[in-house]
Amino acid sequence: MSDHAYRMLILAGPSGSGKSTLISHLRTHCPDIYFSISTTTRPRRKGEIEGQHYHFVSEEVFLKGIENKQFLEWARVHGHYYGTSLDLINAALKAGKMVLFDIDVQGHRSIKEVYQKATSIFITTKNIHILKERLEQRRTDSYEVIARRLQTALQEIQEVDLFDYVLVNEDLELSKKMVLEVAHTLGYKQQMFPKEAFCQAWGASHQ
Ligand code: ADP
Ligand code: 5GP
Repeated sequence: MSDHAYRMLILAGPSGSGKSTLISHLRTHCPDIYFSISTTTRPRRKGEIEGQHYHFVSEEVFLKGIENKQFLEWARVHGHYYGTSLDLINAALKAGKMVLFDIDVQGHRSIKEVYQKATSIFITTKNIHILKERLEQRRTDSYEVIARRLQTALQEIQEVDLFDYVLVNEDLELSKKMVLEVAHTLGYKQQMFPKEAFCQAWGASHQ
């Protein structure tokens, strides 16, 4: 997989910062994209569809998955397990697709440790008050769940300097434009242009 890691695009950052919204935009506007559907033990929210938003499994099944080395990375976030399945990612990368991840900062760290060429964007609000407002307005989580997510956000923000890009998601239209621009840059990564093919086209010897 390491040969294809330059086609990985990771979006991470506090819950409520806008990752799902921006990913949905990328999925609509980038034709050759594969969204990594994570596996989780978190209870399904209203409106979420199995196999589209997540694969929802029991803790027992998830732990078996860890044992069977099914995950590229996994983490416990806000009290639940979340993991990225290895096989589907490999297949998508080999098929030349860009692979998009919505993962937490622990997952980001795990992937970057192994695949330094992966590109990452830290998505955030300007401050915790705006984050709280967004989580409340989303109406998907209880007061307790929101409190826990805000607490976690204070930890997540500590990792901002490990990312390639930072997006303070204020004006949604501008943010959509930014993530699309970053996604487009992946098509110009040096690895997209193998030296051997260039040398051949130029009639130059391949050194
Ligand atoms: P995440 O996936 O990071 O948890 P969401 O994409 O679910 O975040 O966004 C959280 C809430 O904030 C949603 O209700 C979404 O519609 C809203 N939202 C996202 N981006 C913006 C923005 N730039 N301005 C205002 N509201 C936003
Ligand atoms: P939510 O419950 O709001 O869907 O997601 C909670 C957090 O878990 C978010 O920060 C999201 O990015 C993260 N997450 C989702 N899937 C994965 C995954 O496969 N691995 C890791 N490490 N984090 C994930």
